[in-house]
Amino acid sequence: MSGPVKRRDFLKMMGVGGVSGTLAGCDLPSTVTLEEGKEDVVSYFMPEEYVIPGVGVWYASTCMQCDAGCGIQGRIREGRFLKVEGNPGSPINKGKVCQMGQSTVQAHYNPDRITQPMMREGGSLKAVTWEQAYSALTQNLNKAGNKIAWFSGTVSGHQSTLISNYLDAVGATVDANKSHFTHEVVNAAIWQAVNKDMLGDSLPELHIDKASLILSFGADFLGTWISPVHFAGKWADFRSPETGDGRGTLIQVESKMTLTGGNADLWVPAKSGSEGAIALGLANYVLAKSPGAGESLSSEQKSLISSYSLEKVATIAATSEDYIKRIGDALIKRSPSLVLAGASVEGHEHGYDAVAAVMLLNMVLGNIGKTIKPANTSPFPQLQTKPGNTRDLIEFTAAAKAKKFDVVFFSGANPLFTAPDSLALQDALDNVGFKVAVSTFPDETTMQADLVLPLSSYAEDWGTHVPAYQGDRNVISVQQPLMNNLHSDTKGLGDILLDLLKAKQPDQYNTFKDYYAYLQDAIKTLRGSSEIKNAEAGDKQFWNKALQTGLIEVKDQKPTFASNFLSNDVKINLPEEKADSAYPYQLVPSARLGLYDGRHANLPWLQESPDQISKVVWDSWAEIHPRTANNIGVKHGDIVEIASKSGTIRLHAYVIKGVHPDTIAVPLGQGHEEYGRYAKGIGVNPLKILEAKTDSKTGELAMYATRVKATATAAGKKDALVRLGGSDIQMGRKLVVTIPAEVLKRTEGA
Ligand code: SF4
Repeated sequence: MSGPVKRRDFLKMMGVGGVSGTLAGCDLPSTVTLEEGKEDVVSYFMPEEYVIPGVGVWYASTCMQCDAGCGIQGRIREGRFLKVEGNPGSPINKGKVCQMGQSTVQAHYNPDRITQPMMREGGSLKAVTWEQAYSALTQNLNKAGNKIAWFSGTVSGHQSTLISNYLDAVGATVDANKSHFTHEVVNAAIWQAVNKDMLGDSLPELHIDKASLILSFGADFLGTWISPVHFAGKWADFRSPETGDGRGTLIQVESKMTLTGGNADLWVPAKSGSEGAIALGLANYVLAKSPGAGESLSSEQKSLISSYSLEKVATIAATSEDYIKRIGDALIKRSPSLVLAGASVEGHEHGYDAVAAVMLLNMVLGNIGKTIKPANTSPFPQLQTKPGNTRDLIEFTAAAKAKKFDVVFFSGANPLFTAPDSLALQDALDNVGFKVAVSTFPDETTMQADLVLPLSSYAEDWGTHVPAYQGDRNVISVQQPLMNNLHSDTKGLGDILLDLLKAKQPDQYNTFKDYYAYLQDAIKTLRGSSEIKNAEAGDKQFWNKALQTGLIEVKDQKPTFASNFLSNDVKINLPEEKADSAYPYQLVPSARLGLYDGRHANLPWLQESPDQISKVVWDSWAEIHPRTANNIGVKHGDIVEIASKSGTIRLHAYVIKGVHPDTIAVPLGQGHEEYGRYAKGIGVNPLKILEAKTDSKTGELAMYATRVKATATAAGKKDALVRLGGSDIQMGRKLVVTIPAEVLKRTEGA
């Protein structure tokens, strides 16, 4: 690149500003255009050389169906993208891929994709050209000045760099007000906050495979928690007598059975919100039975732990004292263990305190350094993940309500679907002068935008990603197109960002013909960093290798844990949640592998894939314990009305023992009012009736803290709940042969 760009500005443009290591004193790399680089790029951009009729070719890329960042390989035949498999070289998923990743193909060919720009005119969205769209955008941006914000899902890599650079370029951060909001309903934000405070590392490595026992408080690590395909690989080792220290044991404590809970050796139903108390009760039990343990605890911690007797804990959790004792004995016997905390622990007004109690139990058990170890972090601050959370949704709503923004861009997030009605986001958005949706599908937020910029599918786009949870090696994952644009009028996210930056800083960004050219230069710049592994080869070889493997290897960067973590006093305060006789049940809006937070409800493969516990397809249902169903007066399949102080939903009752009697669980994902033919009008969205309660320390939405009442009703829909899998009983077929414990004891002499 030539031109009057200062070195510091150049590094910021390229996403390596603020790097702790050194950057070799290379010349600023020159831009390689698509044409110039043609012979060397191993990508489907030169199909005529690589197409062999009838023969599939695999290209490496990165899965974008959730934010775990698994490496994938896409099979291409005669220019068509046909299939996804896992990239065996990826340290995250090691060749495996989940059903959401597999359904990339269906998202790519989805008939409801947005294919051209649209602008609001007379109350509805009308098709326009890119020129008309950009002209309207420019007018509104000029009027807005620096009152501009970006609202996205989790984002990392060079797309994140360009979002930040753009917001800086328009001065959106000059008054220190936040201007980039990242939002995810399925997140581990509080787990990360606690680990940051207690260990100094927000996402430590979890050595599931090295544990003899896992005690998981609602962490659905095989389904939706942090990096499920990575953990599923570790789980296979954990369960294998050959690779682990014998077959590991899993105890899952939760209010609603998750996919992970369904795989547990012991599943313990407990009231959601009681997990912190259970963890402290277990710490008390372990300390009493293990003289010498916990000597380094502070006196305050010791006194807190000693106040949680098993009897008290069993009452708080509304579960059996014997269960808790059994868990305590197992923890003492099977070391090292690993204790995890998922959404049901985090989702309360004292979620932070409950997760801190779980980490304290890990410390008492001596798991830190054995099954919980420092994790790799990216040495490139600009490329690091900006993880989504719910606090940003709340802060954004407040800022929009206060008329802080005149233009807001939305990409990779659908807040009008995920925000509870009690937040009044819809009203707040009325205060935003011009809403721009950068979107692939007509979701709820997109359909209320003033301008819609049609986004290419991720299988058509370029990018880099730095997954928050890195696995065994430190990498930057590369995303490359698996086929040319299906619809000629869509653009990639990087290209749209580059267009915005060119309009604002032409001297710096006009050099790049497109995002592909920018990324080539950015990767050349990365190669000059001392933090990059295998950078010996030339620029072209390095680029080709990145495309061939889908990865850029980065040197390990593992912090050491805070040395005082055991006595490090994070104050834990766990007041009991008050009972409310008018609203006797706790609403659990549960995420699941498949529809996830609702983003995959437009994919028929995932609608058709049965829920892992209930086996229901294409619908919503309320999981209710038989005793509770009896109290309410509903039978399996009846319609039940569930009402919180913030709203009401009506849906089928699904009577099941895999839920605590105090809990009513409703899966996330359905209830779309927009989002295309496969999603619109199906089921209900439990997020809509959540109260706007927050965690007292982090400000995250307390997603499991809404209390509800339930009544049988004749109103609402009547069609039957469709369930694959038929029956839970074996109908005398002896598929799984069982033997009563007494008989076993008699015959085996146990
Ligand atoms: S967990 Fe599944 S959806 Fe998420 S990145 Fe990995 S393969 Fe894709």
